[in-house]
Amino acid sequence: MDKRVLRERMRRKKRQMMIRHYTKIGLSVLGLILAIVFVVRGIIIPIAHHVAGGGSSNQTVQAQADTEEVQANSDAAVRQPLKGKSDTDKISTMTAGWHEDTNGKWYQNADGTYFANGFQDIDGVTYSFDENGYIQTGWVTKGVKDYYFNDDGSYDPSQVRPMLALTFDDGPGQYTDELLDCLEANNAHATFFMLGQNVSAYPDAPKRMLELGCEIGSHSWDHTQLTTIDLDSVAKQFSDTDDALTQACGQAATVARAPYGDGNTDIYNTVNKPFFMWSLDTEDWKLMDADADYNAVMNGDLTDGTIILMHDIHEPSVQAAIRLIPDLIARGYKLVTVSEMAEAKNVTLQNACYVDFWPSTLSNGGVPGYQGGADAAASTDSTDGTTDSSDSSDGNSDYSDGSEDGSTDDSSSDGNYDDGSGDYSDDSSEDYSDDSVDYGDDSEY
Ligand code: ZN
Repeated sequence: MDKRVLRERMRRKKRQMMIRHYTKIGLSVLGLILAIVFVVRGIIIPIAHHVAGGGSSNQTVQAQADTEEVQANSDAAVRQPLKGKSDTDKISTMTAGWHEDTNGKWYQNADGTYFANGFQDIDGVTYSFDENGYIQTGWVTKGVKDYYFNDDGSYDPSQVRPMLALTFDDGPGQYTDELLDCLEANNAHATFFMLGQNVSAYPDAPKRMLELGCEIGSHSWDHTQLTTIDLDSVAKQFSDTDDALTQACGQAATVARAPYGDGNTDIYNTVNKPFFMWSLDTEDWKLMDADADYNAVMNGDLTDGTIILMHDIHEPSVQAAIRLIPDLIARGYKLVTVSEMAEAKNVTLQNACYVDFWPSTLSNGGVPGYQGGADAAASTDSTDGTTDSSDSSDGNSDYSDGSEDGSTDDSSSDGNYDDGSGDYSDDSSEDYSDDSVDYGDDSEY
């Protein structure tokens, strides 16, 4: 009996020791496995990644973007993992700061990441990094604006690329496609204020305009002078045109222009779109000559923020446009739609009438929905607003002084609604509705 109990106890003890022994082994193995996983995931994979991945993996890895470093600004550069072809060397050296290789200059942070694909302030200077992490020089386009970076990569805020908004009325027509070819070839945008009645004849035109980044505008259904009809009829002019546009390109007009430039606040609110006049009238419909049209633009007042009026239903106008589009770009202008212009100038478009986005007009409060901000600086730069020094200073939609206007040395500069009898004497940019205004029997606007 005693022996049996003793043996039983011995057996139990042995079993307990065995269990303890195996538990120990199990825990050790588990620990070893965890250690291996840690080493592989934490050290080997990253190194292998750096060595093997090189430049090609740069774009895919964004996880390391340091949230503290990435500014609220969407233009801000993101931090990318180690850069370059010889990443093995980089791992061993790991020097923070500027680096240069055959592709250009790039910047390595202390943690080994580098900046890519955006703007980044380094030591108080703003740089632009391309998608591969190299600094960019010259003009860099971000959104609707262009920014200039010097040869050393530093941002130069004094360089402002002036913007022009080419607008074409009364189409689409048989020459519109040729004009679109030119815009496409030059990577330029324009706004088309179309007549609803012409859209069904050229349904491909609005579609292509959208594809090219151009803007779809409405110029009423049949060019009726809106101040001569009741507001219900005004609404129908634009809703019918929107229906035709939607059928053609899947989208209604985002902006509008009144035939003959003749609208008023009631009309803007009824149509419920921002309306656009122009600050440079080529009078192409009257000239009907490509050279004259071309000169009207090239010799006109091309102040940053100018809206140019042309008509793509006339062959000379389109021929002139095909010449002046590349020439304006060569002169340093950026050709944008009216909405792009508004966005670039920090203007939230409203159901109002816009004539131009000149710095002077912005700073004088002549642009409804102007938010100030970054562009306020740009506009206050040009202090000529107060000194009236014969350039664009008198832009502020003041068409009253057409004759004594300081800037009209070069004729067609601004305020050319005046065909003699026209009276735009009020300062408000909103009211061109004066019924006595006679746009001439040409009635082409
Ligand atoms: Zn028109």
